[in-house]
Amino acid sequence: MSTTAKGHSTVVVCPHCSARNRVPAAARGAPRCGNCRNPVPWIVDTSDADFTTVVDEATVPVLVDVWAPWCGPCRMVSPALEQLATELAGRLKLVKINADEAPEVSRRFEVRAIPTLILMLHGQVIDKQIGAAPAHALRSWLTAHLPSEDVGPARVNNPPPGDRP
Ligand SMILES: [Zn+2]
Repeated sequence: MSTTAKGHSTVVVCPHCSARNRVPAAARGAPRCGNCRNPVPWIVDTSDADFTTVVDEATVPVLVDVWAPWCGPCRMVSPALEQLATELAGRLKLVKINADEAPEVSRRFEVRAIPTLILMLHGQVIDKQIGAAPAHALRSWLTAHLPSEDVGPARVNNPPPGDRP
């Protein structure tokens, strides 16, 4: 694990230069490494109380992972999601929410089975996927729905990696 949740910020080790960055749970645009300026993965835990600021007010696409500690398929899909959040750093924010601790969010999105993955932009649902899927299927699903343009500030010369063999 490259991240540790701690209140409203997370320490993220930059995949490009290994610098440690303190990344806020909510911010405009997408976080960049303070050292090398490349986008860093944005993975945040949230709850009912913070959902609006962390998800609805985000200016980048958000993948909401509704999970629970007792859910085996959730534990299988979680590493794939973290890998995709790293590959799509700067273009995607991954937000994890524990269904057991988030009755309001579960109601709002009519979550009946987990994992439920909800792709959102500007507070609107773009698409929803229920159940676990392998990383390559999740990657195709995400890239089909993500805007192609970079939504963050000034782009550096380092596009995110595409599909790998
Ligand atoms: Zn860096």
